[in-house]
Amino acid sequence: MEDLNPFRIAQQQLDETAKVMKLDAQAHSILREPMEMLTVNIPVRMRDGKTKTFTGFRVHYNNARGPCKGGIRFHPQENLDTVKALSAWMTWKCALADIPLGGAKGGIICDPKKLNDYELQNLTRAYVRAIYKFIGSNIDIPAPDVYTTPQIMAWIVDEYSKMVGHNDFGVVTGKPLEDWGSKGRGDATAMGGMYVLREAAKYRKMNLKNATIAIQGFGNAGNYAFELAQRLFGSRIVAVSDSGGAIYDKKGLDYKKLVDVKNKKGKVQAYPNGEKISNDDLLALDVDVLIPAALENQITGKNAENIKTKILLELANGPVTPEADRIISGKRTFGLPDFLVNSGGVIVSYFEWLQNNSGYYWEAKKVYERLDKIITKSFRDVIAKRDEYSKNGQKISTRTAAYIIAVQRVADAMKYRGWY
Ligand code: NAD
Repeated sequence: MEDLNPFRIAQQQLDETAKVMKLDAQAHSILREPMEMLTVNIPVRMRDGKTKTFTGFRVHYNNARGPCKGGIRFHPQENLDTVKALSAWMTWKCALADIPLGGAKGGIICDPKKLNDYELQNLTRAYVRAIYKFIGSNIDIPAPDVYTTPQIMAWIVDEYSKMVGHNDFGVVTGKPLEDWGSKGRGDATAMGGMYVLREAAKYRKMNLKNATIAIQGFGNAGNYAFELAQRLFGSRIVAVSDSGGAIYDKKGLDYKKLVDVKNKKGKVQAYPNGEKISNDDLLALDVDVLIPAALENQITGKNAENIKTKILLELANGPVTPEADRIISGKRTFGLPDFLVNSGGVIVSYFEWLQNNSGYYWEAKKVYERLDKIITKSFRDVIAKRDEYSKNGQKISTRTAAYIIAVQRVADAMKYRGWY
């Protein structure tokens, strides 16, 4: 039976990398576990006057290269091992992008769809009161992730600022512009993914105009990916899904119509044309580009054999398991790892933090140009690392190449600091 525990997957990926790069055993042992973890039980006053207790987490994985950084998820299936895995992936993501931040992640076990605004705000503020000593603009800087929004980030700034007695806008990123968010943060994750796709297509000599694309997930990452792929490249998005299932039309889906039905009816399958298919059918489509943009463990040992796409652009965190990786590596698919593809979110979060710390705000054009420069360099570094190993007769995946770069940077920082 395949092990789908995200943290054990993250450890497995690190162990395989350590073997290939011959990582120092002491560095390996430090990097196998998070630095520190906080679990909090939070009593929250609900709309009916009764108090309900929620469980929340915040994990600091590694801060050798800078303050910890990572999103907060509100999800009914949230658990400590998922948060630990995501905090590890944040560490590698910041290191690969070569930005001066470490890795963290947080989450609350809750179903935000069942909470009204009053309860959501009470829950967010109670979480901040419980973890406020564990975060800070020089300690750990949260951000939005699955089912958390700029509005929630603004409540975090407000509650945190009250706790410490002064405004600290740099304590969290992904804020509304009115509370000193950064221009370009909204679509940063998808935009970064599009820059990687542009480079990958160039590398594979693929024309993205009219290329067919299927996207799993229609939230922040998936929604913007649809709009940008169409606008920037003229690609044809033939399938999209959300937690309720997928919709497929080989002639291409209409973005405005899809957003409209999703807003009005809450599910993409309410789209009036096309064919209703399952999420598994979507993953198996014979498309030029497949973009998982929902949750982890979507492509596993069970369904990897069905993958037919030419480019697999991992916009979600952890969508492909190690077992699936092994199966896909035998195919013609060009896989691009999550912590490269979706690093646009944290790169622009880093820009937002810089702007908050300096009090000087940039135009959107500058944000996108700097994002493009950083993420394009990351893509090229990954390809160069893979080629370097290949020249020495060792075939490694783009994921392993990305891991080697990131892990080496963190290990070197720890070494100079005297951690081992
Ligand atoms: P979101 O909450 O905005 O959207 C999640 C989407 O996934 C929703 O449309 C939901 O319906 C869909 N979904 C949930 N379960 C599904 C399933 N089983 N099958 C198909 N669709 C399903 O979240 P997001 O911010 O877009 O995050 C999506 C992924 O991207 C996550 O893995 C997240 O960690 C990653 N990511 C997000 C950011 C960011 O800046 N938002 C940055 C880096 C990585």
